[in-house]
Amino acid sequence: MKRVLITGAAGFLGSHLCDRFLKEGYYVIAMDNLITGDLKNIEHLKGDENFEFINHDVSEHIDLEGDLDYILHFASPASPIDYLKIPIQTLKVGSLGTHNLLGLAKAKNARMLIASTSEVYGDPLVHPQTEEYYGNVNPIGPRGVYDEAKRFQEAITMAYHTYHGVETRIVRIFNTYGPRMRLNDGRVLPAFIGQALRGEDLTVFGEGNQTRSFCYVDDLIEGIYRLLLSDYALPVNIGNPDEITILDFCKEIIKLTGTDQKIIYKDLPVNDPMQRQPNIDKARSILGWEPKVNRAEGLKITYEYFKSLSPEQLNKVEH
Ligand code: NAD
Ligand code: UDP
Repeated sequence: MKRVLITGAAGFLGSHLCDRFLKEGYYVIAMDNLITGDLKNIEHLKGDENFEFINHDVSEHIDLEGDLDYILHFASPASPIDYLKIPIQTLKVGSLGTHNLLGLAKAKNARMLIASTSEVYGDPLVHPQTEEYYGNVNPIGPRGVYDEAKRFQEAITMAYHTYHGVETRIVRIFNTYGPRMRLNDGRVLPAFIGQALRGEDLTVFGEGNQTRSFCYVDDLIEGIYRLLLSDYALPVNIGNPDEITILDFCKEIIKLTGTDQKIIYKDLPVNDPMQRQPNIDKARSILGWEPKVNRAEGLKITYEYFKSLSPEQLNKVEH
């Protein structure tokens, strides 16, 4: 039985990865320090004999007994309000955490995949973004703690690949959504749906003409699974190229939820990228991957999930 270590396993994406790898017949070691995650996301896996959970901060030294075939490093605060609240931990998990895990991969002769991000492109001057684009990041801006941690993460991963021969994979993830996102993490989809469910006005930042391209979680997980098992060590974008302005997205959520609340406009956060759309030619040609779930379908499933949350979860205010 192949053994996989998944960091950030109690988070949104990590928990879906645990489900997928268990389904594929792996032994899953889930690691998380719960700084932004929630054990509820993996509660259903508790009794599974092929699953174990370790509460550990991966920025500290990691001791792990037994063989390891794969490591998927997904631990990191991921939403702007999270990484603005805990900037030092964000920098540490991308740098020290990645270093620890690469050391572990080297010691165990395991293949390691890191969760990079479209944020390595910053506020992009090339559109859509191809993997060859170097990006436009302000290192000392508020988002710099996340963007630069991820850029360092890619650099040290390539260095371990080149100098130590560690087998590595780099996925650049574009905005992904689905069940188990935290309703109050400040990201745009849970923000709008949460506001609609609580009967609050929907907050569009700026004029709402900035764009994003939203990928449903199942599609992303499929792309990651294929990339891990491929022999391609350079970064690969995984995302859904269906681009939309934030204002139009807000209108879609209003229609979906049937809310009669209005749209209100707030200041655009500093360095908020104005446009974002993945070029997925590499994923198509190398992995034979492309997204299958369109936004209407994905949003419906996600809305059902948020509707099923308790009033306490719905009203929990974190910021
Ligand atoms: P999330 O906040 O739901 O999950 C992150 C998990 O990592 C949490 O459970 C948190 O407790 C854990 N964690 C953070 N620091 C840790 C540490 N030092 N030690 C151990 N665990 C730690 O976020 P997510 O959306 O699931 O994102 C997961 C990964 O994917 C992140 O690396 C993120 O940068 C990347 N990513 C996500 C998206 C997206 O759209 N969701 C886009 C690009 C990249
Ligand atoms: N956004 C918004 N209203 C909100 C939350 C976010 O208009 O209540 C905007 C935000 O300014 C950004 C886009 O939605 O332009 C996506 O934000 P998110 O935090 O989800 O992701 P990221 O900026 O990291 O892509």
